[in-house]
Amino acid sequence: MENASKFYIDGKWVEPASTSTSELIDPATEKVYATVAMGSAEDIDRAVKAARRAFETFSRTTVEERIELLQRIEVAFRKREREISETVTQEVGMPISVSSGFLLDWCKIHTAETIEILRNYAFAEKLGTTTIYKEPIGVVGMITPWNFPIGQIFTKILPALATGCTMVLKPSQLTPLDGIIAAEILHEAGVPAGVFNLVNGDGRDVGEAISKHADIDMVSFTGSTRAGIQIAKSAADTIKRVVNELGGKSANILLDDADFETAVENAVGNCFFLNGQACDAGTRLLVPRARLEEATNIAAKVANGYVSGPPSDPATTLGPVMNASQFFNVQEYIQSGIDQGARLAAGGVGRPDGIEAGYFVKPTIFSDVAPDMRIYREEIFGPVLSISAYEDLNDAARMANDTIYGLAAHITGKDMDKVRKLARELRAGSVYVNSPDLDPKAPFGGYRQSGNGRECGEQGFTEYLEIKAVVGHG
Ligand code: NAD
Repeated sequence: MENASKFYIDGKWVEPASTSTSELIDPATEKVYATVAMGSAEDIDRAVKAARRAFETFSRTTVEERIELLQRIEVAFRKREREISETVTQEVGMPISVSSGFLLDWCKIHTAETIEILRNYAFAEKLGTTTIYKEPIGVVGMITPWNFPIGQIFTKILPALATGCTMVLKPSQLTPLDGIIAAEILHEAGVPAGVFNLVNGDGRDVGEAISKHADIDMVSFTGSTRAGIQIAKSAADTIKRVVNELGGKSANILLDDADFETAVENAVGNCFFLNGQACDAGTRLLVPRARLEEATNIAAKVANGYVSGPPSDPATTLGPVMNASQFFNVQEYIQSGIDQGARLAAGGVGRPDGIEAGYFVKPTIFSDVAPDMRIYREEIFGPVLSISAYEDLNDAARMANDTIYGLAAHITGKDMDKVRKLARELRAGSVYVNSPDLDPKAPFGGYRQSGNGRECGEQGFTEYLEIKAVVGHG
């Protein structure tokens, strides 16, 4: 890729400050497929200066101008769709059916929704003798993970552009290429110089330089709770706003009246989505005690039907996990489930039969999982589902809430009074009822150690705004 050795700063592709590079490894083959430039604090500083200059004019653009800009981004994005899918599939091993479907839809649906919010948003309102203005917060530092790469980039840049902010993005060092495509799309769409800047690099150096930078007003971070804590600490000295979208260990509760064949199949699909690497996945399946055997048998049958193989093959339903360290982590979790006495119903340690290379994990189902087991409590980030029994719905809610996280929960059931009551009991930022379709109006974010602040929808848009009260305005 032509721009892999460069960064996008002040509207141009520029040479990095240092000569440091990193090799990218295809998770399906373990072979190096590209080399990218790695940045430094000096590159971040240069990007922040460009963003600060651009803020002077971009923050004063009209709503109409920004709507037109987002519409041009929509057009430019459509021209690159195929390349985006293929790039992400190589970068993270996302099955091509997902990278050419849900991933692209996510970006397009959220672009359309952001335009809609922008068109109708009240940037000024009168209350008493005060006029309340909502103004762009300033320069935003964005740090994104690898698991849904360009999706997470779009989730941040769309509201930032819509509100009149300027930005410096550092994508995951494991998935820099789709970030480069995103920058090329914004350039083609005519985003003014300095409004969007891209610097690649790792978390320790480049990410940390963003968190600490005195001229960045807000950090929007998506990634692990470990990194979120570090970012919040590093950002504290300059009192910048930190929006943290972090990890999870979400429950998926099946009510007794659910159609178990479909509900368990959906539950396995939800857990194995993105090769088991979705932050809001329902990784703990909770079922009525009397239905535990039935749920376990269906889940095992469904898991055994997954097809592991080259992610670029449309027949593949489960690709590899991201890298060697992720692979060994997941193996260790599977072994811990066995050692701690959970019942292995499908999968297990090692690669799937017939696969000799790549970070492929066997689609794995554990049953009889107890609350003191690591696989019940810790985020695994691989295709491993834990099934546990509950006694009644109070017990189900208590079990679902028995976690340091609070990103999401899932409920399947027919009695909507019971479903709604249960949904209100759950301490989670999103509760998905009966496997709903994507709703771009829904805010996304976590309770407890799953983060703070929200992305998506009007609440996500508002995170990029400061509030000014002009008192006595009439
Ligand atoms: P990660 O935390 O290792 O890395 C995420 C990003 O943070 C990368 O760009 C990395 O370079 C950077 N980073 C790491 N340490 C940093 C530091 N000290 N300072 C600044 N930046 C730093 O996470 P990952 O492995 O890329 O992604 C997986 C994690 O992300 C999982 O825990 C998952 O649950 C979470 N996630 C959360 C959401 C959400 O919306 N809540 C969405 C997707 C993924």
